[in-house]
Amino acid sequence: MSQILSRRGWIALAIVALTAVILGFVGASQEAIIVSIVGAVAAIFASAAGRALEDDHPVVPTMPEPPSPLGPVLDALGEPVLILSGPRIASANGAARALLGSHIVGEDARIAIRHPAASGLLASEASAGPVALTGLGSADQRWEMQIAPIGDGRRLVHLSDRSGSHAAERMRVDFVANASHELRTPLASILGYVETLSDTAGDDPAIRARFLKIVFDEARRMQRLVDDLMSLSRIEAEKFRVPSDVVDLGALVDDTHAELAEAHDGRGRDIILEHDAGAIPVLGDRLQLSQLLHNLIGNAMKYGQPGTPVRVSITRDNGAIRLIVADQGEGIAPEHLPRLTERFYRVDPGRSRSVGGTGLGLAIVKHIVERHRGRLEISSRVGEGTRVSVTLRAPGQESPKPVS
Ligand code: ADP
Repeated sequence: MSQILSRRGWIALAIVALTAVILGFVGASQEAIIVSIVGAVAAIFASAAGRALEDDHPVVPTMPEPPSPLGPVLDALGEPVLILSGPRIASANGAARALLGSHIVGEDARIAIRHPAASGLLASEASAGPVALTGLGSADQRWEMQIAPIGDGRRLVHLSDRSGSHAAERMRVDFVANASHELRTPLASILGYVETLSDTAGDDPAIRARFLKIVFDEARRMQRLVDDLMSLSRIEAEKFRVPSDVVDLGALVDDTHAELAEAHDGRGRDIILEHDAGAIPVLGDRLQLSQLLHNLIGNAMKYGQPGTPVRVSITRDNGAIRLIVADQGEGIAPEHLPRLTERFYRVDPGRSRSVGGTGLGLAIVKHIVERHRGRLEISSRVGEGTRVSVTLRAPGQESPKPVS
């Protein structure tokens, strides 16, 4: 019995005996005393026996399944990863749950991914992919799925987000198509006129002179386009080399003013310069900043109302240098503003071509500003005019980006 009863059990028995003596003293009936003693002793022995049983067959506490050591690794991947056991999803990292839903663990992978290109591959046991899945998540997202066996009848499904590279590829294809189209139009015109000139029409001096002028203008148009295309690719090729030369922006604005004085039917006379007389140093590439000025002042001259001022000002802003080119032209409707720096985007293509535009001027400006780690802002009001602001770094202001 000493093995069954613990120290606490013996103390409890002593308390029972003491209770019986007290009940006797207070005059309780004999039956009541016996019933109390038997009940208490039975309870003590039952509890002791239970404890002994627990010692022989300890109850294993129900613990949550330990997290897989691979869990943090899969989460750190950042891209959706699933582990399948047969057709079911045994585990899914955070990115997979964010894409396919938090409920997917335990679900059939074909239901969770629900894509016609994926279901056959998810049903088979073999490795598969890469296979393109369009519209998973949102309609314009592109994913690439790969399936690889990892032993124990398990497979790893990896989804890579290809939306960015797909958009870049689409832009490249569009750009080549647009550039070819822009070049083909003047080329077709040149070929047509040259052919006509080689016929009898070329014998008439007046017709010949008129046609030759058209051929010359079209050839110049092609030349401007090729020049702009080459500028764009040069600037893009250098985009990671931040220019560090010190350039006097004030002097460069004065030079550009002089060069543009006679351009666009003498609109140069409408240019008003507003900047300090002394040097205004900025960190930059002189040639590219000159091209930026030509494009911005050129646009203000082309699209501004003849006879209205084109203001070119330079101010100091929080340590940075800010160039502003403002015109009083017809302005640009708000829906066009976000797209102006896209290649070949024009508000009015006919107008742009008639004033010698290539549709690349602002795209070039954007790339130059990006290479200079500057900031470009375009604001405009229809009927009032357009204002383009470029913020550049002053020497000693290496980083961060200048704040406007
Ligand atoms: P483009 O060679 O056609 O001038 P840009 O890239 O320089 O090409 O400009 C894109 C379009 O933005 C132009 O075709 C024109 O419609 C519009 N735009 C640019 N600057 C101005 C301006 N100052 N005022 C009004 N519209 C402008």
